[in-house]
Amino acid sequence: MIEGVTVRQAGAGDAVRGVLPRWVALPETVEEIAAVLRACAERDLAVVPAGGGTKLHWGPPPERCDVLLDLCCMNEILEHAAGDLVVRAQAGVTMDALAGTLADKGQELALDVPFSEGTTVGGTLATALPGPRSFRYGTARDLLIGITVVLPDGTIARSGGKVVKNVAGYDLGKLFTGSYGTLGVIAEATFRLHPLPADRRWVVAGLDRAEAAPAAAALAASQTEPSAIEVDWPDPAGPLTLAVLVEGTTAEARAAALRELTGGAVTRERPSWWGLIEGDEVLAEARFLPADAGAVLDEVAATGLALRGSLAAGRVLLTPCRDLAEDELAAAVARLRERARVHVLAAPYDGLDRWGQVSGLPLMRRVKERFDPGRRMSPGRFVGGI
Ligand SMILES: Cc1cc2nc3c(=O)[nH]c(=O)nc-3n(C[C@H](O)[C@H](O)[C@H](O)COP(=O)(O)OP(=O)(O)OC[C@H]3O[C@@H](n4cnc5c(N)ncnc54)[C@H](O)[C@@H]3O)c2cc1C
Repeated sequence: MIEGVTVRQAGAGDAVRGVLPRWVALPETVEEIAAVLRACAERDLAVVPAGGGTKLHWGPPPERCDVLLDLCCMNEILEHAAGDLVVRAQAGVTMDALAGTLADKGQELALDVPFSEGTTVGGTLATALPGPRSFRYGTARDLLIGITVVLPDGTIARSGGKVVKNVAGYDLGKLFTGSYGTLGVIAEATFRLHPLPADRRWVVAGLDRAEAAPAAAALAASQTEPSAIEVDWPDPAGPLTLAVLVEGTTAEARAAALRELTGGAVTRERPSWWGLIEGDEVLAEARFLPADAGAVLDEVAATGLALRGSLAAGRVLLTPCRDLAEDELAAAVARLRERARVHVLAAPYDGLDRWGQVSGLPLMRRVKERFDPGRRMSPGRFVGGI
């Protein structure tokens, strides 16, 4: 179909939430991505980009999908400027492979990616799910310093990092982080790195629901500089586990000081649940003001949802801890929306209001119209049917 680019017929395993593409394109360079997107533009074909495929079932099904653009062959780390603490990688590099290369030089990209196995740089940016250490280091958006994207008409655009061509007026890195493949294809990314910490300690303590929010607030305000403060609440009828991470040469002393605040135990082993999501068939994210954390926990207690995340950062993930029918899930989400912004990231139901009220929606529609007027990039996969 497109000269020089490997394209194969799609099979049942390539379906995106039940929508079977006709072809799978496997570009190996940015120019090949551009050639695929140009060819698709000429033929009005809809495209869904794919990395490791770990989150392709998130979001609603695409309205149409002719070509699955699989970035697995774009798997090179292009430059690791260790002295500058910067790495540039192709979008199909897995986060594990990247971590391995960086660790050899004593560095890391301080993003804790759930489902790290198979997760790619591009998919991590496109879904923008923050992990525990975003509390200290920021999110993917903050650690991204440059990006190369291919727009739906095949234009290659770069911003930040080593800039060759900018799309005037837009911060492409910010736009494409969290865009779920609806604006174009992320081809390469440049990240700011951190040295691997000399030491890590977790302080782990059990808490009752009423104690959790004040404890998280006290820890966030403490002088011990935690890198992350997470809670795990697998059953809202039971107690929570609080875990605090401290990193660096003085981690041991700071962990001891933290233990004075929280009780519990100090360990070098990360808790088995730390930064992980087990099972994402149904997964929701709640964002709220840290001051509202106690009220959010009270609401969660009534919903039948398990909770994991950061009360101090006002960001938690929710999964059902028992079978929930669609109407029960909808009721639980509606209830939580009284206290928090709740997005249903994944659920095998089509009638559910996944996003709730999104105040920026008119602006997002205008951005979509500017970047993808033909609605060919992952159509219908994002908020408001974008
Ligand atoms: C069509 C389109 C238009 C965009 N326009 C802009 C823009 O004008 N300015 C800008 O900074 N970024 C824009 N983005 C990028 C995108 O909204 C953000 O990168 C993404 O929301 C990052 O999430 P956040 O948690 O950092 O932001 P947040 O501050 O949490 O969310 C930003 C807004 O987008 C909504 N929203 C977005 N994405 C999700 C998602 N996955 N899950 C849930 N809610 C979502 C939120 O409710 C909120 O209104 C756009 C993306 C798309 C696809």
